[in-house]
Amino acid sequence: MIVVMRTGATAKEIGQVITSITEQGFKPHMSRGEERTVIGVIGSDRKVDPGRFEVLAGVEKVIPILKPFKLASREFHPEDTIVNVGSVAIGGRESIVMAGPCAVENRDQLVESAEAVRKGGARILRGGAYKPRTSPYAFQGLGKKGLELLKEAREITGMPIVTECLATSDLPAVAEYADLVQIGARNMQNFNLLEEVGKISKPVLLKRGLMSTLEELLMSAEYILSKGNMNVILCERGIRTFEKFTRNTLDISAVGVLKRLTHLPVIVDPSHACGERYLVASLARAAIAAGADGLIIEVHPHPEKALCDGPQAMLPPDFWKMMDECRAIAKAIGREVAEAPAASGEKSTGR
Ligand code: PEP
Ligand code: MN
Repeated sequence: MIVVMRTGATAKEIGQVITSITEQGFKPHMSRGEERTVIGVIGSDRKVDPGRFEVLAGVEKVIPILKPFKLASREFHPEDTIVNVGSVAIGGRESIVMAGPCAVENRDQLVESAEAVRKGGARILRGGAYKPRTSPYAFQGLGKKGLELLKEAREITGMPIVTECLATSDLPAVAEYADLVQIGARNMQNFNLLEEVGKISKPVLLKRGLMSTLEELLMSAEYILSKGNMNVILCERGIRTFEKFTRNTLDISAVGVLKRLTHLPVIVDPSHACGERYLVASLARAAIAAGADGLIIEVHPHPEKALCDGPQAMLPPDFWKMMDECRAIAKAIGREVAEAPAASGEKSTGR
């Protein structure tokens, strides 16, 4: 349920509503719009009596939130939420491209990838330091060393970094280094981890589970929001279907459905959706056309040597071409994708 205050309601009136919410055993959640304050009554599934709030001074109306995901719903927060990752705003007019290797492998590989994606107009650098692998014998990531290298790459390129946290025990370190903490598909319903990232001050990128419905994704986002972290970005990354030619099936309609149901930014990962380099650009173009607030894409300068997900890693020149195409599509629908930065010095020779 949400309590909508009158325009110009006083701090005292707002305070009385908050007191009433807590006295009844619920949690208040404030959302201050330009015109008025809206207070969410969040808590157990117990029924809330609207009459208890309607009688209070300064209250305009009380509206039930019908969706099970309260804080994530547009009923609670009609305007789009903008999530700031370092100096990059996600959820506004600009579609933000995050790109980089699947895994951080070594300094040269990371820096070369970072420079290449930056040259194409990527605004955030991706790279896994902790990798969720199907096989326990596969490369598991460099761990803390990988975080150190990401930090160095951020210093060199100026790009904020997104990296995955696999376990609550790694969270303090990941949250210290990352500008955006990724919760991967396999952990989408690790409720303990969701609650912990709900308590940190860094924004969270929540990926859809391989077999999860959009409602389940939103309920997982709700775990994070209900712990106080309102900076959550959702990511459609392909789901398992009976189709076997692609690694997963990109659910492109997820973008439109999520944008309708929630105020949170929605991005698309075309790399894990298809698993094949030749398909990534077309899915990326489709995602931008569908209205995605951004993309996260795997790029590797030497995919044949990649320790993880080589077959789906784009080569830098293909990535640059895709960025040009995405720019044109974004423009056609009244949005934008950042221009490649002007070449400067020895390292950035342009393209
Ligand atoms: C990743 O982005 O590196 C990753 C492992 O993706 P997902 O969790 O979507 O499989
Ligand atoms: Mn990967």
